[in-house]
Amino acid sequence: MPKARHLTIAAKLTVWACALIVVFFATSAYLFQQVRKDAEIAGLMVTENHDLDSAIQRMLERLYNVQNNIRRYRILGGDQAAVGFIVEDLTRFGEILNRTIEKHPRYADEWRELTSEYQITLDPANTPGENLTPDDTVSDWTDILEQSLLDNQADTEARLTQLRDAGRHAANVGMYGLAFCLVVGVGGSLLLAWTLNRSLGEVRRGIRELGTGATPRDVRILSRDELGELALAFNAMAARLRREERMRADFIAMLSHEIRTPLTSVREAVDLIGSGTFGAVNERQKRFLDIAEKESGRLSGLLSRLLSVSRMETQELELNPERVDAAGLVDAALERLAPTARGADVTLEAEVGPGLAVTADPAHISQVLTNLVGNAVKFSGRGGKVRVSAERSGDEALFCVRDNGPGIPEDERERIFLKYYREPGVRDSIDGAGLGLAISRRIVLAHGGRIWVESEPGRGATFRFTLPATA
Ligand code: ADP
Repeated sequence: MPKARHLTIAAKLTVWACALIVVFFATSAYLFQQVRKDAEIAGLMVTENHDLDSAIQRMLERLYNVQNNIRRYRILGGDQAAVGFIVEDLTRFGEILNRTIEKHPRYADEWRELTSEYQITLDPANTPGENLTPDDTVSDWTDILEQSLLDNQADTEARLTQLRDAGRHAANVGMYGLAFCLVVGVGGSLLLAWTLNRSLGEVRRGIRELGTGATPRDVRILSRDELGELALAFNAMAARLRREERMRADFIAMLSHEIRTPLTSVREAVDLIGSGTFGAVNERQKRFLDIAEKESGRLSGLLSRLLSVSRMETQELELNPERVDAAGLVDAALERLAPTARGADVTLEAEVGPGLAVTADPAHISQVLTNLVGNAVKFSGRGGKVRVSAERSGDEALFCVRDNGPGIPEDERERIFLKYYREPGVRDSIDGAGLGLAISRRIVLAHGGRIWVESEPGRGATFRFTLPATA
């Protein structure tokens, strides 16, 4: 068998699952990193901006107090209590200033002027009161700090904007990642299901056809995976079955032909002896000669059926469809089988809708009716009744052959249409080769019709088939 495997179903599934996992992990990793970055920015806002903000506010508060107390000292003309407050506030201010610079060293540069002036102001050599901090120096300091406060607020705002943008971007990436996973997931599963179903459908069709007993046909190879391999294996099996069927048909044809020639000689000899050509034949001899003639006649009929099946298998059925009167077809079949029915004590009845005509090959359809009516007579038994009817049903003509014989069990109803199949219950008791229904089905299908059986076991069987009706 040629090697067809390209990418196995398992490999296709793995690639598809890997693509999903990669996108999922990439999206998650990005989101995780983004969350960490956001947490960092939020942390900075708390530890840096908020802390700085409150420190500057407290320093400003002290400086505003100092300014108020300087004014009070001047208005009251050297109030010592005010000096105490000034020293107190400046000391607290200095503490906060040093702590803040320690925590945020980048302000050491920015506040260099402020720190150096502050050191001079609070020089232990200077006595408070004599060397009070000038009003405009404090005012300069508040200006510097207010500017720093504004800068810090601007910095906070920038970080907030950064946070908002990062959040939006993360939401977008998450959404695209999710959408991609959804599209790849749903689209991939649909595509995979479609391709698998397409390839499987072909094999399923082939197997179903095989089940109907038709000559197996090759199926199309639609993929190069395990299902493609299955289709290849099926085609190899179908080819083998076709070969074997042809060999069997050839063998049957050859055998039938080989038996038919001597059988004809036997029949002619029996006929000649029976007709008294070689001298008088007594009653007893005549009885045995009649049996020999009947049996050789049966053999000859069986050979004809075998031959027609083998011919049908090797050749395409050649149809010469024409407009045929349904009543004529039914009457001819009943006429042909009347002697057999009389011999079997079976009554034949016909009922055909007026003016019903079909487009069909009359010789072939006669064979179908003969097979079905012949079976009905054969299986009805003595005193049985066979009713043949034909009526219009839409664009079709529906033919029915009903008997009141033993009927057919449910699980046998499909199988009886297979070649050489005979129900186990009748194999030993009733004559036949299991070919009549197979031939009939082949003919009906070739006409574009359908054939099936309905039966109530114990109460008879009804075979129905359709043919295209003529307008
Ligand atoms: P044959 O009649 O030569 O055996 P067929 O192909 O005509 O072959 O029929 C196949 C089988 O279907 C028969 O052997 C029989 O088991 C079943 N069958 C056909 N027609 C009838 C019927 N009218 N009633 C019961 N069984 C039937």
